[in-house]
Amino acid sequence: MSLPEVKSRIEAACRAAGRPASSVSLVAASKGQSLDSIWEVLDQGHRLFGENRVQEAERRWPPLRAKYPGVKIHCIGHLQTNKVREAVQIFDVIHTLDSVRLADALQEEMEKQSRKLPCFIQVNTGEEPQKGGVTPKELESLFRHCRDAHLPVEGLMCIPPHHEIPDTHFALLHKLAQGLGVKQLSMGMSADFETAIRYGATHVRVGTALFGIRENAKAV
Ligand SMILES: *Cc1c(COP(=O)(O)O)cnc(C)c1O
Repeated sequence: MSLPEVKSRIEAACRAAGRPASSVSLVAASKGQSLDSIWEVLDQGHRLFGENRVQEAERRWPPLRAKYPGVKIHCIGHLQTNKVREAVQIFDVIHTLDSVRLADALQEEMEKQSRKLPCFIQVNTGEEPQKGGVTPKELESLFRHCRDAHLPVEGLMCIPPHHEIPDTHFALLHKLAQGLGVKQLSMGMSADFETAIRYGATHVRVGTALFGIRENAKAV
């Protein structure tokens, strides 16, 4: 799919849900994609990207940022505590906050760099052992901890289990966000972004539908 096609599908899903198109941001998930395919999307005017790894983001984005003003990079992959310095330098938003330890490290680093990044707490809605995120039960205590530490938590993020219908996970994330009074929902990928929009997604993270199959499957 081309960028205009993905955008028009997002707009159609917004219309169907009675939401303004401006209420959903397309985060172009560029992990494992070639520079050529990223350039193509940049040249069409897109500026919001999601990266999974600090190293790949650091390698790739500083020169592209210099050339394309207005680029924003969101961290959508698991973030290790020992990478927070680089992460706070290179990212604009963190979607994958999932522990007190990471929250404290981010808070300290943001203070050091005088750079406050909005954060999303990742919720492991399917409670899968191999997946990042807090369980729905653990969410409230992490949220309170962040609030007390003045870490700006603006939303929740989830990646539903691969082989399940995502609806119940999206609905759960929506409900959890309402309960906490946070407004942003990062959910929906290539296969299900329209469904996510129906359940209130404000950020859809779309990779393969936009760029095609990833060159570097290991980056997944
Ligand atoms: C890779 C990835 C995406 C994009 O997945 P596609 O199925 O290629 O659209 C979205 N979110 C996260 C966290 C990812 O790791």
